[in-house]
Amino acid sequence: MTIKLGCIADDFTGATDLANNLVRAGMRVVQAIGVPSAPTADVDAIVVALKSRTIPAAQAVDQSLAALRWLQAQGAQQIYFKYCSTFDSTPEGNIGPVTEALMDALKIDFTIATPAFPDNQRTVFKGYLFAGDVLLSESGMRDHPLTPMTDANLVRVLQAQTTARRKVGLIDYRVVARGADAIRERIAQLRAEGVGIAIVDALSNDDLLRLGPALAGMPLVTAGSGVAIGLPANFGLAPSSTAGALPPAPGFQAVVSGSCSLATNRQVRHFIDEAGRPALALDPLRIAEEGSDALAQQALAWAAPRLEDGPVLVYSTAQSDAVKSVQGRLGVDEAGALVERCIAAIARGLVGQLGVRQLVVAGGETSGACVQALGIAQMQIGAQIDPGVPWCHAPAQAAGGVGLRLALKSGNFGTDDFFSKAFAVQSGGA
Ligand code: ADP
Repeated sequence: MTIKLGCIADDFTGATDLANNLVRAGMRVVQAIGVPSAPTADVDAIVVALKSRTIPAAQAVDQSLAALRWLQAQGAQQIYFKYCSTFDSTPEGNIGPVTEALMDALKIDFTIATPAFPDNQRTVFKGYLFAGDVLLSESGMRDHPLTPMTDANLVRVLQAQTTARRKVGLIDYRVVARGADAIRERIAQLRAEGVGIAIVDALSNDDLLRLGPALAGMPLVTAGSGVAIGLPANFGLAPSSTAGALPPAPGFQAVVSGSCSLATNRQVRHFIDEAGRPALALDPLRIAEEGSDALAQQALAWAAPRLEDGPVLVYSTAQSDAVKSVQGRLGVDEAGALVERCIAAIARGLVGQLGVRQLVVAGGETSGACVQALGIAQMQIGAQIDPGVPWCHAPAQAAGGVGLRLALKSGNFGTDDFFSKAFAVQSGGA
């Protein structure tokens, strides 16, 4: 088997975001959690999801190179290093060091870098990244706890992260507006000037679609998930409903939710009040008293007789004042870890003991815990339910290796009726 596009993503939800864009543009995509130990199914692209955004740069480089070697062994014709559309990084990295290490390993002297994702309000103009209507440095990213972004000029930001021998340049919006030939000419000019990495302006999806053909045959592309919309066409692929077709996964339906975002709070209310579905609230203080396994068993006993009648919800989702009060009693990390452990045990029981085969998980960290507890190593990416959240199909150890449908929704994604919509939009004979 040879894949067309081999992708390395620096975090889990970012990997899904990229995979989702590739599927929408016509590729069949598998997302692997970490570097796989075995070859995967016959697909057009594989996205290896790392957790390398904020770890020490040397470790991020090692993990990314391991992913590169594995993707090369699968025959990847082009490598895509995916980072956040807000260019999350510190002066030490990790975007610069990983990009340079991949360039050295691939023995190439040029690549591009652009986090532009106009669908998500991320645009790059004259090298400056905008988040919505404001410069990145004036957005909430200014105060990010791990990767504060205080300079919106990406040429400067990336140059600070790369070795002096590699110059960072710019392909500006006027060149991009003139199309692929003009972009190729500009690339040739930059290379002649000794530029190794070029930030690319993009103000709209049209810009990204003009950029796409200019990247054909470039061994390494580095970008947010936006650039992905222009790449499948280089491999002769066009948007189609078959790219996102998933194998059927007949069985019961359930939602587990550990996200406390505003959107998830609304979704939980909607599922209970509007859709009228049964729901069980988990109390973190009881989990602390009785243990996550005991609470998980109680939740499973509650769910068992109800699953035949349709989807059920088990949630710890709460409003911020309740969350703060619990955190005050248990500590922020301890509260988070306890709840994650309990919900993960419930997910494992729903799938392993009760026959749930279509599972929605709300919460980024919660999703990570559930995927691990279910023993999932790879997911095939299906059609999107809402922007950024596709259904996936994943063989799960917890189901004896049988495949299940999984939708992993991070915090603020999804409309209020997301949970019921997720089950309603399924196609492909689940
Ligand atoms: P999101 O994607 O919305 O950020 P996450 O799952 O990433 O959701 O993070 C939510 C965190 O809050 C998890 O660590 C989870 O265990 C924790 N949590 C969930 N419910 C509660 C609660 N009621 N009280 C305190 N912490 C909670």
